[in-house]
Amino acid sequence: MFKLIDERGRKLYRGRFAPSPTGPLHFGSLVAAVASYLDARAHGGEWLLRIEDVDLTRTVPGAADGILRTLEGFGLQWDGRVLVQSQRLDLYRAALVSLQRRDYAYPCACSRREIAACSPPTSVDGGLIYPGICRRGLADGRAARAWRMRVPDDEISFDDRVQGRVRQNLERAVGDFILLRADGQFAYQLAVVVDDAAQGVNAVVRGVDLLASTPRQIWLQQRLGLPTPTYAHLPVVTNAVGEKLSKQTRAKAVDPSEGSEVVAAVLRFLGHPVPQELSRGPLTDIWRWATDTWSIRQVPALRGAFPG
Ligand code: GLU
Repeated sequence: MFKLIDERGRKLYRGRFAPSPTGPLHFGSLVAAVASYLDARAHGGEWLLRIEDVDLTRTVPGAADGILRTLEGFGLQWDGRVLVQSQRLDLYRAALVSLQRRDYAYPCACSRREIAACSPPTSVDGGLIYPGICRRGLADGRAARAWRMRVPDDEISFDDRVQGRVRQNLERAVGDFILLRADGQFAYQLAVVVDDAAQGVNAVVRGVDLLASTPRQIWLQQRLGLPTPTYAHLPVVTNAVGEKLSKQTRAKAVDPSEGSEVVAAVLRFLGHPVPQELSRGPLTDIWRWATDTWSIRQVPALRGAFPG
């Protein structure tokens, strides 16, 4: 395990980049990698890497390796060994059991169709807010398909380092959310909370598309007695028609042979315009400049279009 306090008793910064291996690293994911890396290095902290392959249905064989090689190609050096979520199912199970024992989690028998039949309101994620059918126990003859987390009719709030004060009423915005899916896979929300705590991560820097998930993660941290890291949610990179860059929108893979030019474009996007000569120079120079110059206060809160 890493130590969170140095020999002089100072608290160390520990950040991470946690890509899902669903395809090659594209400009949008490089933005999250670079911002989390620079924020860690500018604080003299550590930067860990975690492969989030807990959803095996989305995992593409070979993608994790490709992401690691691309990060290396750009000169992004991580600390320690790479954690792989699919090898950590026992930890997620233990967290689920701890929530089940205290009745924070309950079994749910509902299918998607049954939930939709209640015409519940839409959640912040664009899904359906669970109408609470199994909240007070399974009806006779019904079998558990999944496990859900009870949420309070209460506001969770936190200060995001980029987006400012964020508030969300979990019951109205999200509803009782899934911890263990009907296909037997653990949900991202549970895995990310368990892993951030197990790795001692105390600063999370990631895309604003995950902002709506953060109150759920804070709620889980509170119920599991885990510390809450600081959060910074970056603007999401969109393509010319305003879609988030992703595998679904056929985002182009970034190419480390274009080194400094790509890094300069990322830094411009993050509110750090790079001196001309550095965008044509060696990667080591641009990283040195960026680490010295980095300030999360310069990162714009709003989403921006893919440069170029
Ligand atoms: N695995 C998530 C993704 O690639 C990121 C999760 C996180 O940073 O918390 O979108």
